[in-house]
Amino acid sequence: MHDFLQLTQIRPIGMRDDGDKILIFAENIASPPDRCDKCGNAPLYRHGKRQYTYADTPIHGKPVKVEIETQRYRCKACGTVVTLSSPSLDDKRVATRRLVQYIQDRCFGTTFTQLANEVGLALNTVKGISQDYAAHLEDQVELETPRLLGLDELHILGKPRAVLVNLEMRSLFDILESRTKALLADYFNNLKDRDRIEWVVIDMLEPYELAIRKQLPNTRIVIDRFHVVNEAAKKLDELRRHLRSKLSSEDRIRLRKHLQGSWLRNDEIKTRKDLEDIEYIGSHYPELSMALTINEKFFSIHNASNREAGEKAFQDWKDAIPKDFRKYYEPVAGMVDRHHGDIFNYFDCPVTNGCTEAMNDVMKAMNRLGRGYSFEILRASSLFYRVMRESGTIVTHTGETKDISKPVSTMGDRIEKSYGTPISTLESLAENDELIRKS
Ligand SMILES: [Zn+2]
Repeated sequence: MHDFLQLTQIRPIGMRDDGDKILIFAENIASPPDRCDKCGNAPLYRHGKRQYTYADTPIHGKPVKVEIETQRYRCKACGTVVTLSSPSLDDKRVATRRLVQYIQDRCFGTTFTQLANEVGLALNTVKGISQDYAAHLEDQVELETPRLLGLDELHILGKPRAVLVNLEMRSLFDILESRTKALLADYFNNLKDRDRIEWVVIDMLEPYELAIRKQLPNTRIVIDRFHVVNEAAKKLDELRRHLRSKLSSEDRIRLRKHLQGSWLRNDEIKTRKDLEDIEYIGSHYPELSMALTINEKFFSIHNASNREAGEKAFQDWKDAIPKDFRKYYEPVAGMVDRHHGDIFNYFDCPVTNGCTEAMNDVMKAMNRLGRGYSFEILRASSLFYRVMRESGTIVTHTGETKDISKPVSTMGDRIEKSYGTPISTLESLAENDELIRKS
């Protein structure tokens, strides 16, 4: 029979089309081992034949099973039983090596269920092969540990995950399966060059803070500026709503457009009508007017020219709160007091997690496309797959060479540094629905 199988040491002897799958009968024709590889004794004796069924790459769109009759040998001295093998067979799974390769080539573009149906393997086997491959891809890449790290959370596949961003390079550094303190601590503890991280920008989330303080004692924390403002705005809004409820419906309409923006900001161009309205509200509703001024002052704390000025602006803000308003403002003041150092570190490192926000759209696309994939595959496809790897790698040269025929930029030894997938790359792939596609 013609060797249509093309598997080393495996000879086909028959074939049957079962309709939903193709069954190929074959025998292992490898030569018997010379001696026992456990005790070195020779010779080995025939110990019966066995049939092993391996899955192989599909033929004409049908899954293929190869039933291989295999001679076994036994060592009389130590009792070891040896089964003939083949370099074409995977030693971890009952699949041919080329089928494993076939799954690896497709696991980023096809869901596990589709792949399992296509090749006739159990879902978990396909999942296992894909995840091993994801881990293998990860081993090939060594990302430079960021100097400025942004740590935020995003919902991926129905769970909150910690997302780590290189804020200097605007690239995705990692996505962790969850965001618990234990997992983060373990992650930072095992992170290569963790001393390189000078700053971490986080929200006011305790697990982040505790994990960083414990595992990265030399790293300084900055509480994200926008997070502080958002948290404060949620609380400050209560007073604004309360005071607005006292307004006549006519005045509420008059006020609406001014209340939406920051109507007191000096840099905003105001019409005469605007100014009249503001004047009117100021004189008719002094409490509301004052509340708006206080809120506005809080929001401009981060605009101070330096740390000292910022800290003073906060203190002045606190001191200026009228007694009647205290119950509304105390939670905000308390929040800032509790995180004082980390919040005002912003003035020493004026960086925000703004670019992590851009990841929101990416993750939405990922959640939409990602049904049927595992977290590991989504993570690997956004970090280690070819497009991602190439776009996140910067090549430079040492510049030291005597060969002056080349441009300076390509002189000397090549240095390749990977920083993780640029967020702009992820954004454009997400826009084109190519986030989980072929390279
Ligand atoms: Zn032996």
